[in-house]
Amino acid sequence: MNQDELNRWSKRAADWALAYHAGLRDRPVRAPLAPGAIAARLPPAPPETAEPMEAIFADFERIVPDGMTHWQHPRFFAYFPANAAPASMLAEQLANAIAAQAMLWQTAPAASEMEEVMVDWLRQAVGLPAGFTGTIHDSATTATLAAVLTMRERALGWLGLTAGLSGQPRLRLYASAETHSSVDKAARVAGIGQENLVKIPTGADHAMDPAALEAAVRADRAAGLLPAGVVLCAGGTSIGAFDRIGETIAIARAHGLYSHVDAAWAGSAMICPEFRALWAGAEDADSIVFNPHKWLGAQFDCSVQFLADPAPQVRTLGLRPEYLKTQGRDEIVNFNEWTLPLGRRFRALKLWFLMRAYGLEGLRTRLRNHVAWAREAAEALRRMPGVAIVTEPSLSLFTFALAAGDPATEALLARINDDGRIYLTQTRHRGRFVIRVQVGQFDCTRADVMTIPAVVAELIGAI
Ligand SMILES: *Cc1c(COP(=O)(O)O)cnc(C)c1O
Repeated sequence: MNQDELNRWSKRAADWALAYHAGLRDRPVRAPLAPGAIAARLPPAPPETAEPMEAIFADFERIVPDGMTHWQHPRFFAYFPANAAPASMLAEQLANAIAAQAMLWQTAPAASEMEEVMVDWLRQAVGLPAGFTGTIHDSATTATLAAVLTMRERALGWLGLTAGLSGQPRLRLYASAETHSSVDKAARVAGIGQENLVKIPTGADHAMDPAALEAAVRADRAAGLLPAGVVLCAGGTSIGAFDRIGETIAIARAHGLYSHVDAAWAGSAMICPEFRALWAGAEDADSIVFNPHKWLGAQFDCSVQFLADPAPQVRTLGLRPEYLKTQGRDEIVNFNEWTLPLGRRFRALKLWFLMRAYGLEGLRTRLRNHVAWAREAAEALRRMPGVAIVTEPSLSLFTFALAAGDPATEALLARINDDGRIYLTQTRHRGRFVIRVQVGQFDCTRADVMTIPAVVAELIGAI
């Protein structure tokens, strides 16, 4: 394939994309497939000789779309969204065309400088004070790992990097059980160990109990352990729990601990001033992660980490072997030193396109609608006999269950997802199997959201 053919097929792909998006409402949201169905349609070995693009494209159309769960479907209410606003898709196409590797300023000056400016645009958009800088990672998992490694090295006086962890004091991290499993993964792979991630109990408000945190830190110190950091939950994945951010960070600071706020989902909502009370005190954090690739509309992947001071993280992750030195340019930022991978994509472009094409006000309107419609759907479900709202809407996320018990709720969820008009997922809350509803797909309408109670009302009779 050459550039002329690329041009021709790109136009064909753009036409295909238009039809795909226009037809989404007619497709089942979740792929109605048995495991192995797609693999069985692919040849077991690669071709020795070139195949015509006509054949490749025809197979794509035949095999792939029906084998997908449609994340851009307006009735996708599962997990959290992975919104790709059309303007951000266009930016991704342009970044793909340039195909740069943005590891150093000099390997992609526009990407590096735009990343600095876009992180600052987002800082202003979510109402954080000047002084926070930051970077763009692939995922919140990576950002949280970067923060946990920084906690580790800061506590060890940067000895872990050189001497390794054996012989060092036993490190301790703190978080509530509402934080995402990426925190557990970070504790595991950072060599701190799952057993040293202390899960602080939560109160009736689902927030980490700050007094319990303080007691745990004191007890660990007294036992000769080394408290390193706290990960705070600002919009948990299960039910949307929020820690009391300001109060909890104050305790972390008083004990010299590094603080990282996981706002991977809810960070997008902070572009609306009326929601900022939920994370009040975030401005005192050392590190905050938020995924514009979830609710905001920047095509996956795009995870922003704000840093009050980048120095400890750069000291932890940055390495400058001779071949990566950029001679005589001390004023520039080489973002690979802020993140785990060396190679980096040009992710800032889609933020630039997104914020300009919709404006913050256009994005706010979408998020406000989602929150209002989620509440409306929850009220409609609450009025249904036999249905209980188990956790109240946190922004646009709530859970419900059937009064008849877990097996009935599980059966209802299976019927809903086999039906295909909407897609919901589950979680367990205080031992109970509950159905999770989140509203946030970029193009969903009120009618799409009100399909949720309509489908439940229709299918509940058969349980
Ligand atoms: C989605 C999510 C994550 C993980 O995000 P990735 O970018 O997929 O790694 C972490 N924390 C919370 C609260 C999330 O909602």
